[in-house]
Amino acid sequence: MTYPKLVINTDAIRDNSRQIIKLCSSFNVQLVGVTKVTLGNPVICSLMKESGIGVIGESRIQNIQRLIKNGINGPFMLLRIPMKSELRETVKLCDFVLVSEPQVAEWIDELSREIQKTVTLIYMVDVGDLREGVWYESAVEEISSVMKSLRKSRIAGIGTNLGCYGGILPDRENMLRLIEIKDQLERRTHAKIDIVSGGNTSALKLLEDGSLPEGINQFRVGEAIILGTDVTRNRSIPGLRQDTVLLEAEIIEMKTKPSVPVGTIGRDAFGRVPSFEDIGLRKRVILALGEQDCVPAHLKPVVKGTRVMHGSSDHVVVDITEANQSFDIGDTMRFTMSYASLLRSMTSPHVEKVFV
Ligand SMILES: *Cc1c(COP(=O)(O)O)cnc(C)c1O
Repeated sequence: MTYPKLVINTDAIRDNSRQIIKLCSSFNVQLVGVTKVTLGNPVICSLMKESGIGVIGESRIQNIQRLIKNGINGPFMLLRIPMKSELRETVKLCDFVLVSEPQVAEWIDELSREIQKTVTLIYMVDVGDLREGVWYESAVEEISSVMKSLRKSRIAGIGTNLGCYGGILPDRENMLRLIEIKDQLERRTHAKIDIVSGGNTSALKLLEDGSLPEGINQFRVGEAIILGTDVTRNRSIPGLRQDTVLLEAEIIEMKTKPSVPVGTIGRDAFGRVPSFEDIGLRKRVILALGEQDCVPAHLKPVVKGTRVMHGSSDHVVVDITEANQSFDIGDTMRFTMSYASLLRSMTSPHVEKVFV
């Protein structure tokens, strides 16, 4: 047994997948299961597929290659706009690709003719968050001209992503903006836009309160399946499980020390200026865990009365003065975590992944 490790609860992830499929299908929304926070983990991907998810969304070609190597045959949707340098692999391996540049769509079209494989393109529209996509006011112009220029691959949908740069939340207004663009495109080009891909985990709220306008028919969801949370609204999603993943690390030191360091304070190992309040002597442990393995500030200890005080590359200090349990050197402590911390743990080669 090596530490640190992530303990991944397969039942909980399966339950969340099923629950979200149920919610989505009652609004005729197709659920794309997103594995990118797991480094394309084949076990987690299989859990999604077993639960009834069809299309798998990934942001990285290497992760898709990993999934294929482990016997998962897709269909795959590439979520990040592809780099020019990865277009050939993209066309070979993906069935759906999100794009936002006419030039990239044309390159993909040329490659699909060359290697005789079509991909379905979803053109991204920026409805306000300011990350990827053509700005909504010029979307009809740009997308209709690309639709006319393609010969083998096809733009079968439009999509949007929110809550990632501007922190803009999905609402009726920005969803209607996307539907309006779809309607105008269909009128102008006389082609059908089959897919209207409305968003990620943050869009689930519109299903929960029944405010999703008719016409949005696809969501691409990762966080809600794997953590049961929605970081954009800082909430646990009702009906979903949050006992999906725990990070476990080992105690390597346990001492009682003052709460304020002694000497002149400069910056810590990460350039931060620490500040301290004198609350007397504290009993603390050091864990063999650090910024390399997780985001220490985003960890929540399972044991009540304990608190993460600090993390550097390889050490996390936890105050256990008021813990309702006793600890020893060599014992382990367990934590729940944020999306950002899970991302770091899943992508760290130092963190073992264990499925229960
Ligand atoms: C990451 C990502 C998603 C999934 O986001 P979650 O918040 O994990 O549900 C969906 N679409 C795009 C374009 C993404 O990059």
